[in-house]
Amino acid sequence: MIIDCHGHYTTAPKALEDWRKQQIAAYDANLQPHFGSALKISDDEIRDSVEQAQIKIQRERGTDVTLFSPRASFMAHHIGNAQVSERWAAICNELIHRVATLYPKNFIGTCMLPQSPGVSPANCIAELRRCVNEYGFVACNLNPDPSGGHWREPPLTDRHWYPIYEAMVELDVPAMIHVSTSCNACFHTTGAHYLNADTTAFMQLMTGNLFRDFPTLKFIIPHGGGAVPYHWGRFRGLAQDMKLPPLSEHVLNNVFFDTCVYHQPGMDLLLKVMPVSNILFASEMVGAVRGIDPETGHYFDDTRRYVDAFPGLNAEQKAMVFSENAKRVFPRLNSVLTARGLQ
Ligand SMILES: [Zn+2]
Repeated sequence: MIIDCHGHYTTAPKALEDWRKQQIAAYDANLQPHFGSALKISDDEIRDSVEQAQIKIQRERGTDVTLFSPRASFMAHHIGNAQVSERWAAICNELIHRVATLYPKNFIGTCMLPQSPGVSPANCIAELRRCVNEYGFVACNLNPDPSGGHWREPPLTDRHWYPIYEAMVELDVPAMIHVSTSCNACFHTTGAHYLNADTTAFMQLMTGNLFRDFPTLKFIIPHGGGAVPYHWGRFRGLAQDMKLPPLSEHVLNNVFFDTCVYHQPGMDLLLKVMPVSNILFASEMVGAVRGIDPETGHYFDDTRRYVDAFPGLNAEQKAMVFSENAKRVFPRLNSVLTARGLQ
């Protein structure tokens, strides 16, 4: 079985984007409430939006099920206020639930959170609870920088974040650390901000003691962990200079990396440098990079191809990367897979 732990609904019907524009216009005009009309998307429109995209690609690449969340760049937590984010997150998560209900064997939901700059993430607990308890979602995406590239929140190890961690631990769901659109012109959203955030989050977690307070809390750092695997010697060396415990004990029981790395040498490095037990298969399709690599003739984001071509994994290790690690890191996944006849 191949579980893709990182996919977004980037192909959602245009009505979703229109709804959001209406909401933002209403907020800007100081209209109360800020919400616009109800979102109208039919089941057929949902089918059209995924059958020739994510589902076709799953079939072509031989992957089974995708952990599916709202489009990351559309989360845009910096827009509006907490009330705006709450309504937007609820709309987006409900749509993911509808996709996963129409295609229970293809998609399992993970939610976005209604974060807002300067607002305690305690405001996200109700939505997280709803998504886990009512929709059967298995994880959330946590944005370490809801200001959209200006980094105004405290580090992830700060007590500011503890309320959402307490809820995650109670509900037994991990978070993928995932920023959204950059509104800082210095940082391109997917080329710089995403990778910077992955690297930044790891360093925050490394220099703090979060996992002493939350030993079962788990994070997935996407996009292959940003610069972390490539600079693993730097991180280990810094940890040593700072008299931190070995990183294998200090963070690697709680921090995992996905395989959204879009070329063979990068995947080889990830698989060689990081422990196999810390790597989860993912492609982020249909996502940031949609073209075909002229050097290989294959889609850049066809990450299964790179994992398969890496010579250093035996069958058991490959199964860990493709599915078994995910079942451990997303503790609710096993029962969902069983309930849907997927295992
Ligand atoms: Zn993503």
